[in-house]
Amino acid sequence: MNAEIVAIGSELLSPYRQDTNSLYLTERLNQLGVEVIFKTIVGDERAHLTSAARTALSRADIVIFMGGLGPTEDDLTREAVAEALGLELHRDDAILKQLEQRFAARGYKLTANNHKQADVLTGAVVLANLKGTAPGQWIAGQYEEREKLVLLLPGPPFELKAMFDEECVERLRAKLPVQHIAKCELRVAMLGESLVDSRIAPIYKRYSDVQTTILAGAGEIQLHLRCRGESLEAAQRRVDDLATKIEDELGDAVFSSNGESLEQIVSYLLQMRGMTLAVAESCTGGLLSERLTSIGGASRYFLGGAVVYSDELKTEMAGVPARLIEKHGAVSREVAIALAEGIRARAGSDLGVGITGIAGPSGGSEAKPVGLVFHALAHREGTDVIEKSFPGDRKRIRFFASQQALDMVRRQLM
Ligand code: ATP
Ligand code: MG
Repeated sequence: MNAEIVAIGSELLSPYRQDTNSLYLTERLNQLGVEVIFKTIVGDERAHLTSAARTALSRADIVIFMGGLGPTEDDLTREAVAEALGLELHRDDAILKQLEQRFAARGYKLTANNHKQADVLTGAVVLANLKGTAPGQWIAGQYEEREKLVLLLPGPPFELKAMFDEECVERLRAKLPVQHIAKCELRVAMLGESLVDSRIAPIYKRYSDVQTTILAGAGEIQLHLRCRGESLEAAQRRVDDLATKIEDELGDAVFSSNGESLEQIVSYLLQMRGMTLAVAESCTGGLLSERLTSIGGASRYFLGGAVVYSDELKTEMAGVPARLIEKHGAVSREVAIALAEGIRARAGSDLGVGITGIAGPSGGSEAKPVGLVFHALAHREGTDVIEKSFPGDRKRIRFFASQQALDMVRRQLM
């Protein structure tokens, strides 16, 4: 079975609020073996709501509406769904009583507009709202002569979660054929999306039962593999089998098969090797240090980082000779090496990282364009340098650079 989630509320169409409820529901539905095939966001406009409801009902087996169950003028979900399904609404006295009691317990009197929260679609099962006032509804009905399951859930996230978990999961499980979804997430460092896809497409195309999704970010590609089946073990075997073949193809560019971040892997490797790290950052302005210290227990291996933006501080804090900067410029292979070696010597760490580059938008030249970054890693056997020309804006270039540096550390430790 498949589902569509309809998030209702004009605020969700503004730049200030995001529909996060659907992420929660999607994960839960997937656990039950239900695939979400559409997500719709619609404002508090009766005609738009009815039209979105009709569209959803025409294409999904399960339609979950969330939000717009409150007492105010713009809470229209009940009315719109009733219209789309061709069902009547009637006022439920038991709900009305409960609402009255709830309000009385807090010293309030039920106002007229609150009454509509007791309106129930014909044949609906009422879902208790343990965290708020508006009850939800479960309607097993027909639309265009096909069986549909329709849920009305409240918008506030804590109410929605409680209602779905307490009131819907078991009911759904009883209705659904046993279906499991097995997953695996591979992460790949510093390879382009088209290159990765061209190498792995011939492999995943042979696994038509496994859905492969490629998510590309700066310096990182995530490969999400999913397979549905009646037996979780069999589905997991298919997913793991494909994951192994992809790992064989991409080699050590794959840094994680459990969804860990690059900094988590670096943390794990440093601890395993019992080694320490210090960094001297220019264009990343502390981003690499931030990422390294975002992992709990970083003090075991991360000695510290210096943000050395000016030439003077590069010399003072990381020991970069002033004449080196004069001769080659602050953004150069030589200065990156000196930063890495200098911070390693000063911190007394096993590894030292130096980053220098041009994050833009200004400061670029023909010889040294925006996006040019030198990354150096000093270790016992010497110092490695990688020069890259990253695309994108300032934020992206800085992230790319931190990613490249982390990947150098990872490869050194492998
Ligand atoms: P209420 O009784 O509080 O009015 P309701 O069911 O009418 O409940 P809404 O008015 O649509 O729900 O939403 C209430 C609040 O819940 C919104 O202001 C918003 O902060 C949050 N909310 C609604 N929908 C979502 C969503 N899809 N994702 C995240 N938050 C949401
Ligand atoms: Mg509301």
